[in-house]
Amino acid sequence: MRSITILGATGSVGASTLDLIRRNRDEWRVVALTAKRHAGALAALAREFGAELAVVSDESALPELREALAGTGIEAASGEAALVEAAARPADLTVAAIVGCAGLAPTMAAIEQGGTIALANKEALVSAGAVMTAAVARHGATLLPVDSEHNAIFQCLAGNAIANVRSITLTASGGPLREWPYARLRTATPAQAIDHPNWRMGAKISVDSATMMNKGLEFIEAHHLFPVGLDALRIVIHPQSVIHSMVEYRDGSTLAQLGPSDMRVPIAACLAWPGRIDTPCAPLDLAAIGELTFQAPDEDRFPATRLAREAARQGGAAPIVLNAANEVAVAAFLAGQIAFTDISALVEQTLGRDPPPPPQSLDDVLAVDALARARTAEMLELVRVA
Ligand code: NDP
Repeated sequence: MRSITILGATGSVGASTLDLIRRNRDEWRVVALTAKRHAGALAALAREFGAELAVVSDESALPELREALAGTGIEAASGEAALVEAAARPADLTVAAIVGCAGLAPTMAAIEQGGTIALANKEALVSAGAVMTAAVARHGATLLPVDSEHNAIFQCLAGNAIANVRSITLTASGGPLREWPYARLRTATPAQAIDHPNWRMGAKISVDSATMMNKGLEFIEAHHLFPVGLDALRIVIHPQSVIHSMVEYRDGSTLAQLGPSDMRVPIAACLAWPGRIDTPCAPLDLAAIGELTFQAPDEDRFPATRLAREAARQGGAAPIVLNAANEVAVAAFLAGQIAFTDISALVEQTLGRDPPPPPQSLDDVLAVDALARARTAEMLELVRVA
C-alpha cells in the first residue's frame, strides 16, 4: 500500500485522481486532502477516502469543515501554514493540483521532503523555475509531469538520452475560439471562453486554453522539465487533441504519445510510474477519428505564446510577472470586468514595467509575484474605466 496526498482535491485534476484511487482502493492510503473553500465537498472526499487530514486554505471555511468531519477522527485545519504543513507530511506521492501560484509554497514543502510529486500546478513551476528545479535536485525529489503534454514528452523520452533530442513539439488544441477573427475575440464571454471542445477542466486553465496562455505556460514548464534549450521547443496547433506531444531525435525519428482527451490517462501514468494501471477510458479509435490535422499558431490573434517565449528568453523575474499578470487578468475576465483580448494586453503591459531583480529563493519568487499582481491590478483599473 502506498500513501498519497492531494493538494487541490476538490478540483478537476483532484477529481480525476480520486476517481483512479477509488478504482484501486486497496493500493492507496490517503494522508491529506486540501481545498481552498469548498469545505463540504472536501469533507465528503475525506470521509469517503478515510483521509488523516483535511485542510481548507480559506480560514472562513474551517467551521463548516469541522462540523462536516465531527466524530470521524479526521483532523481539520485551515490557513496557508496548515496547507504547507499538510504538504510536508510524509507521503509516497503528492499530487500538486492547486491552481495558480497559490500552489507554490505547498509544492515546495512536498519537494523538501524528498518524495515523488505528480505536478499539475504548472503556474508553480513557471514562477519558481530554477528555484524549484534546484530544490528538487537538492532534496532528491522526483517530479512527474501530470500535464498531458509534458507527460507525453516524459513517456517519449523514456530510455533515451536528452542529448539525442533535436526538438520537442507541444501540441495545442487551439481552444474554443481558434477560428474567431480578432475583432470578434474582443466580444468573447467567459462562457464561450471556457467551453473547450476537447477537455473538461477548471475555469482558469480553460480561459488560458482559449487565449493560448496555457501553451505559453507549458512552453516555460517544458523548458524547466526537459533541458533541450528554448530553440528546440516548438508549438503546433492540433485541433483533435489526439497526439499529446512529440519528441524528435537526432536521427530523424519522431516519437509521439497518443491517447484520449482524458486527464485520467496522464494521471494514471504518474500513479503507476514506472508501471502501468488500467483506466476506464475508451480505447483510441483512430478510424473513427479519421484525420489528424496540424497548423502553425497565429500569434497576431493569440499573442500569449509570443509573450511566454519572450519571458522565457528574458528569464529572471519575467516568467513570474507573466504568470502573475495572467492570473489577475483571467480572474478579472471571469468576473466580467475586462474583455477577452484585454487579458494578453494586460500581461504585455505588466511585462513592460521595470523588471524586478532575478529571484534567488522562494521568498523572492513570492515577492515578485505580489509586486506583479499589484501592478496588473493598477492597470486593470485603467482598462475597467476606459
Ligand atoms: P480547479 O479550479 O478545478 O481546482 C483547483 C483546486 O485548487 C481546487 O481544489 C481548489 O479548491 C484549490 N484552490 C484554488 N485556489 C486555491 C488557493 N488559493 N489555495 C489553495 N487551494 C486552492 O483547477 P484544475 O484542476 O483545472 O487545475 C489545477 C492545476 O492543474 C492548474 O495548475 C492547471 O493548470 C493544471 N492542469 C489542469 C488540467 C485539467 O484538466 N483540469 C490539465 C493539466 C494541468 P476549491 O475547490 O475549494 O476552490
